[in-house]
Amino acid sequence: MEVIRSAADMQARALGLRKEGKTIGFVPTMGSLHPGHLSLIELIRGKCDVLLLSIYVNPTQFGVGEDYEKYPRNLDQDLELCQGRGVDLVFSPESSEIYAQDASTHVLEDVVGKGLCGTVRPQHFRGVATVCAKLFNLCQPSMVALGQKDAQQVVVLKRMIRDLHFPIEVMVGPILRDADGLAMSSRNAYLEPKQREDALLVYQALQAARKLVEEKGSRNVDRVKAETANILKGGRFLRVNYVEVVDRETMRPETEIVPGRSLLAVAVWVDQVRLIDNLCF
Ligand code: AMP
Repeated sequence: MEVIRSAADMQARALGLRKEGKTIGFVPTMGSLHPGHLSLIELIRGKCDVLLLSIYVNPTQFGVGEDYEKYPRNLDQDLELCQGRGVDLVFSPESSEIYAQDASTHVLEDVVGKGLCGTVRPQHFRGVATVCAKLFNLCQPSMVALGQKDAQQVVVLKRMIRDLHFPIEVMVGPILRDADGLAMSSRNAYLEPKQREDALLVYQALQAARKLVEEKGSRNVDRVKAETANILKGGRFLRVNYVEVVDRETMRPETEIVPGRSLLAVAVWVDQVRLIDNLCF
């Protein structure tokens, strides 16, 4: 496994591989790898000639007062986790490699990234789209693996890939959870035991909503949202950011639940820690 730190080296290596006719499968991450990330490696391993994973905490997707500075960084441990899992190349640049000091070009997807997380994190998806466009140009993937955990991010990036004609196929992996149901996230490391109990309510609320729709046959958006919010109310440290039922392809709010199309998306703060989760009906 080779670790590349410079953007120019990364691009030269990727272009060289493409010239040899090799396909590159790409897993972009912010590091602090957990089994959710590793499942994305599994998802595209064997479907491409070279497997490339990036580890980069992208400053432009964090808002003012968010956790960019304290975001967990564990490069040595991450490299160990990649070893032996079929990762051929790791791209782990310093920020100065990615953003020129006077960088003034951004990529803004202007519709599907506006609601949900886009309302409280207005710069977030612009940062995500911009860094992914850069990473795609540097890494030259023909396939990228993304997690359904970040459902809105998947839709934003699919839209960007389509609109900007990146020749990249998107594979989406399911949400990996801890044994107790909590969706795996690098940010879970911030949670104290008491806060983690509250975080678990998110999973319990999603399960209650699933029951209502799948077992009791409800198609009523307001009822499902109320049931979800009601369970979340039980958390001492928990504040709801949003509970929404949207079309999973467009992120538009649904007026009724359509199995196979609708997605229940939840974002909460447990104390200072912002967590997101979702469920496809
Ligand atoms: P991050 O490092 O948080 O930017 O995530 C990198 C990729 O891993 C994204 O495509 C995420 O959606 C995905 N991911 C994060 N958490 C999970 C999870 N629990 N299960 C599956 N994929 C995940």
